[in-house]
Amino acid sequence: MNPDDLRELDELVEQIRSMKLHVAGGLGAALKKPLLLLLLVSKIENGRIEENRFHFDDIEKQLERLIREHGGRPTASGPKPEQPFSHLRSSAFWILKTQREYGPGKTALVSDLRHPDSYAAFRPQVFRLLRSSGEARARVVDSVLHEWWPETLHGDIREDLGLDRLDSRRRRQRDQQFTIDVLENFRYSCAFCGFHGVLNGQATGIDAAHVQWHAHRGPDTVENGIALCKLHHWAFDKGILGINEAERIGIADVFVTQSDGGLPLESLEGRPLAVLPKNKAIAGRFLEWHRGNVYLGQ
Ligand SMILES: [Zn+2]
Repeated sequence: MNPDDLRELDELVEQIRSMKLHVAGGLGAALKKPLLLLLLVSKIENGRIEENRFHFDDIEKQLERLIREHGGRPTASGPKPEQPFSHLRSSAFWILKTQREYGPGKTALVSDLRHPDSYAAFRPQVFRLLRSSGEARARVVDSVLHEWWPETLHGDIREDLGLDRLDSRRRRQRDQQFTIDVLENFRYSCAFCGFHGVLNGQATGIDAAHVQWHAHRGPDTVENGIALCKLHHWAFDKGILGINEAERIGIADVFVTQSDGGLPLESLEGRPLAVLPKNKAIAGRFLEWHRGNVYLGQ
């Protein structure tokens, strides 16, 4: 990549990271803009976009599905894909042309967005860069995923969007101490099922998970950590499993399994944690964040 393109890319990644998100509206609202960006990059990657001109009705349904699938706990107002499409205009890389004028912070009317002469576009240099460089697309996807989702969910999202091949292999530097402290606090066992695997004298198949996602200001402290096996880590981040106020395990009603193979998840319903923390309990505020933003059950 030439120095000009690299500078352009650095600037774009910075603007993406500093996008204004509707944090007050909960996780679902906050993830809408990142999902719109991932959708457009995936379309460019898979050769589905020729022109730097995006019509709302061409992506409306797909974006709505992505918000339902990867946007965390649904918000009361529903997926509303017009919001990110419209509000992304507060970032310098996004241009929105509508038939009416809207004040800052106002969402454009869906009927206006659907008008044949309304469209959105990337700033021309940004589009050219994303179009011409796989490296640029990989870095944008990587930055977006690391900024807003825990790593356990990256594979699902990439696969869903056909972005599997785009992986710049950047790994966020984990706070090693967090991992050690959390695993130690749970005796290297899964808090949900008690799984404790050892391979050549080393604990294996077990992760130190953040209760409040690191990507959403969850700290690297032992009070925000829970040791979970791979399956339960994924299910916890996906919102299928939760921990209720009475510290019992819940499983979201919307989750179903098609065979007895679901037992490793379903048998946990209503059970207390299999392993209790020995040094420090998980702080209530982090469990509350998970219930309010991620867990899909009651
Ligand atoms: Zn487990």
